[in-house]
Amino acid sequence: ASESNLIRATLFPGDGIGPEIAESVKQVFRVADVPIEWEEHFVGTEIDPRTQSFLTWESLESVRQNKVGLKGPMATPIGKGHRSLNLTLRKELNLYANVRPCYSLPGYKTKYDDVDLITIRENTEGEYSGLEHQVVRGVVESLKIITRSASLRVAEYAFHYAKAHGRQRVSAIHKANIMQKTDGLFLKCCREVAEKYPEIVYEEVVIDNCCMMLVKNPALFDVLVMPNLYGDIISDLCAGLIGGLGLTPSVNIGEGGIALAEAVHGSAPDIAGKNLANPTALLLSAVSMLRHLDLHDKADRIQDAVLKTIAEGKYRTGDLGGKSTTTEFTNAICDHI
Ligand code: NAD
Repeated sequence: ASESNLIRATLFPGDGIGPEIAESVKQVFRVADVPIEWEEHFVGTEIDPRTQSFLTWESLESVRQNKVGLKGPMATPIGKGHRSLNLTLRKELNLYANVRPCYSLPGYKTKYDDVDLITIRENTEGEYSGLEHQVVRGVVESLKIITRSASLRVAEYAFHYAKAHGRQRVSAIHKANIMQKTDGLFLKCCREVAEKYPEIVYEEVVIDNCCMMLVKNPALFDVLVMPNLYGDIISDLCAGLIGGLGLTPSVNIGEGGIALAEAVHGSAPDIAGKNLANPTALLLSAVSMLRHLDLHDKADRIQDAVLKTIAEGKYRTGDLGGKSTTTEFTNAICDHI
């Protein structure tokens, strides 16, 4: 690609295994001649008072301007008194929906052959509002915030997604029998939006029952939309159905057309720096980013190469029962490109 038609995208390599798997993406993009120019931003060493976290204002501005980006996992030290980096990103960039596709990979055998699910997670509120305090010694309180505007926005996105991708059914996942006001409002918003999409089947499933049904027969579901915490848990459950966290991508959708892709998994401190991480989840996230940019040719080539490499089984990382390093697996993908 010539300099002039390069598209700028922000890249956060992130923490732990992040830099290793980000390197794989950069290598694969170079080999596939993808017309992307990465603008790399690193999680800082000092708290930026403008964001109250280690993420600087300049990093956020980069995503706001480029409107597309790819993010590696960011570790949040527990109880260190600054805002979670992921929460800062979601709040500041208004990343209101997190889309997590999960499908059986051809040639990689698990208990199920027919998983094809899309989890759409509300990404800005619920139990993740960060409003926790001690009432008196021995009693703490955490506020779960559900708003009409955020619930309508994510429901709209879920139905719009279902329609645009030829999906048949949207299931709203909830616990409104107990959380009557909060999940009750979430459901009410989903119902309102469902009425505008008569061609799509709408159903409501209680979260505990949903877990049982997913494990028993994942083909019962199609698109699932849910409040924040449920989405966090259910999408890891779905990842387990197809072979684990090394495989599942996601995209955060924000206001003003922002798309920030990221793997579902975290920084995997147990294997960080050892060249053992599976870069598939981040590579498939990068593929989603390319689709968002309508670069479908490049997206197809990279996705095919990744799936072929896994299906052949000659090079697989440890999480998939193989012995390959991140580098060997990445080189095999590049050979297929
Ligand atoms: P994790 O997802 O990092 O790891 C869970 C398990 O899955 C580990 O055994 C790990 O080795 C394995 N794993 C994850 N990704 C893998 C990959 N690509 N290849 C091979 N194996 C992989 O979850 P955790 O250990 O609970 O969290 C570690 C840190 O990550 C924490 O600081 C947490 O806050 C952070 N985190 C960040 C994000 C994010 O940035 N979106 C998401 C989840 C957790």
